[in-house]
Amino acid sequence: MSDKDWQGYSIETQGIRAGQQRTPEGEHSDAIFPTSSYVFTNANEAYERFSGKSEGNIYSRFTNPTVRAFEKRLATMEGAERAMATSSGMAAINTVCLGLLSAGDHVVCSRSVFGNTALMFKNIMSKFSITTTFVDLDDINAWRTAIQNNTRFLFIETPSNPLGTLADIKELADLAHGRDALLIVDNVYCTPALQKPLSLGADLVVHSATKYLDGQGRCVGGAIVGEHALIEEKLYPILRTAGPTMSPFNAWVFHKGLETLSLRMDKHCANALAVAQWLEQQAAVEKVHYTGLSSHRQHELAKQQQSGFGGIVSFEVKGGQGNAWKVIDATQLISITANLGDVKSMITHPSTTTHGRLTDEERVEAGITGSLVRVGVGLENVDDIIADLNTALASLKV
Ligand SMILES: *Cc1c(COP(=O)(O)O)cnc(C)c1O
Repeated sequence: MSDKDWQGYSIETQGIRAGQQRTPEGEHSDAIFPTSSYVFTNANEAYERFSGKSEGNIYSRFTNPTVRAFEKRLATMEGAERAMATSSGMAAINTVCLGLLSAGDHVVCSRSVFGNTALMFKNIMSKFSITTTFVDLDDINAWRTAIQNNTRFLFIETPSNPLGTLADIKELADLAHGRDALLIVDNVYCTPALQKPLSLGADLVVHSATKYLDGQGRCVGGAIVGEHALIEEKLYPILRTAGPTMSPFNAWVFHKGLETLSLRMDKHCANALAVAQWLEQQAAVEKVHYTGLSSHRQHELAKQQQSGFGGIVSFEVKGGQGNAWKVIDATQLISITANLGDVKSMITHPSTTTHGRLTDEERVEAGITGSLVRVGVGLENVDDIIADLNTALASLKV
């Protein structure tokens, strides 16, 4: 079946079927192509491939069948014409910057983005005379005011991590398009299984495949998803020349990861909701941040824009950083690691790890307090996860 034929299927089916190119061996699972270069039948064929007169493999920095299979599957699931894989999530964001920005350009970025994303704009793009204004994710007036005539794109992560603040994607897309700018959405938190930003008007989606797309914590990778023309003209040339390339092995792992993405995300959501509801009842807990709770102030928007609430729950422990650390150290099952999107549950202290390189002022503005603890809720039995948190919170009483 050609790729087009998978468009009408549901995302569970697309994740399992789209993108496979079966070889003459008739393998049921996908083949993997660990090759750096390809053989041409004659000099003219090489010439035609290099000049773009004919399509086909040239060199694995920018053409590889395994990488292509992953790209096609992910694009289909996001409802997009094209995906382009990169060596990491940060490489995806860097490629977007290199492809879309020139000296003198301006970006408006949410204050609540992944720490390295903020540093990309603040420390790296600034070296090339590209300026960035950071605004509160959910303050539409701040976005409106921040846009300048030289603004090329708005960049958001929604829901934000770890506090689960949302942006109205459609509203921001309309705002961007009215000012000749693009909207770029980091969809790591939800994945296409729970949220499809392109269908709400976003122009590009970026992914860290390292997280839920892999889902089992094995490989680092990323992707950019969107319209064919935009990727072909602005971003693919960066991949070809600057080389932020995904390896065939990693592509194969992510491609297989997508087969269980919907199933895993459903379970991540169910476990996270149970954990969030339980935490809300605990005396040692000051506040729980999870978009799936009816107490979340943007719960209605989350229901409208997402088909699930995701796997990340954060909470503030009474008594500040000392108690937050005590809780983290008292867990026995949950891993102390700053990653997320794994079958294994993970716990971390954002203000001293993922957000540790922000200034104190920036941390306050982003709402990352010392008492905040983040749990990437995994797929262990939820009773075991809650029991572990129960033991951890009980350690505060002694
Ligand atoms: C991890 C992450 C990234 C960066 O991805 P890498 O694969 O680690 O480079 C970007 N955005 C978000 C939201 C992330 O969680």
